[in-house]
Amino acid sequence: MSDAQKIWLDGEIVNKADAKVSVFDHGLLYGDGIFEGIRFYNGRVFRLEEHIQRLFLSAKAILLNLPWTVEEVCQYTVDTIKANGLRDGYVRLVVTRGEGGLGLNPYLCETPSMFIIASTIQLYPTEHYENGLKLITCATRRPTPGSLSPQVKSLNYLNNVMAKVECIQAGALEGIMLNEQGYVAECTGDNVFILKDGVVYTPFVADGALDGITRQVIFDLCESLGVKIVEKTLARYDLFTADEAFLTGTAAEVIPFVALDSREIGDGTPGAVTKRLLVAFREMVQSQGTPCV
Ligand code: PMP
Repeated sequence: MSDAQKIWLDGEIVNKADAKVSVFDHGLLYGDGIFEGIRFYNGRVFRLEEHIQRLFLSAKAILLNLPWTVEEVCQYTVDTIKANGLRDGYVRLVVTRGEGGLGLNPYLCETPSMFIIASTIQLYPTEHYENGLKLITCATRRPTPGSLSPQVKSLNYLNNVMAKVECIQAGALEGIMLNEQGYVAECTGDNVFILKDGVVYTPFVADGALDGITRQVIFDLCESLGVKIVEKTLARYDLFTADEAFLTGTAAEVIPFVALDSREIGDGTPGAVTKRLLVAFREMVQSQGTPCV
């Protein structure tokens, strides 16, 4: 995006060059804050309210009192997209604990800060949507819910970043992350699905998966396409022996994966059900959502 990019910052639309937060902001000092990433397609924000509701749940979980309503934050999101004159893209909302002292105490931070960035995004090259990704299993485990709930989209993404580094060093674009018990949780930024004997399976949220908005869309699409979908604790064995596999995420959308740790999944090409879901997803996002132009 150019220097003309407009950022929503604490109630004002400002130029990118003027969008600044304090070095004493606890979002920066401690990763104390939350975020959301949302897509807009063809002048409509996809599942806007669901994303903002999840932002408010993340806030509640970390005792961050947001001085706005869900409706207001939805409106600010739309305002930011409009200010940038975009029809298709990705919008990132970040709420920080705000400015405080050089100590952990969040109660010393008086006002949370929020900024909203509207931009364009292309997470994976187009050819991978046609041919599928090749994944690795990351050695870095997801944190246990007892240490940091995977449901909170917090500014502490270092766990995911370190796993992403493993992927990059192995020449992979994404990687499977396991929980402490060794079961499949999710990827560094996406949810995981497999198909076996005509049934779609995905890990339980309790296995360490984020309750992804796109994950929920897959449940809806499976229902409308008459495909059975079940939550199940999955091991790497289940992925290696699956007939088909795919990932979902706001940025990734729906993308097949065809290999894990250099082992082919199914016949090593994107499967028929995965392709149907991808087509249905693309149709849905073009026709649904909150107007933003
Ligand atoms: N897992 C993690 C760790 C993520 O960061 C994301 C992206 N927000 C997802 C899964 C996918 O969730 P969603 O479909 O809501 O984008």
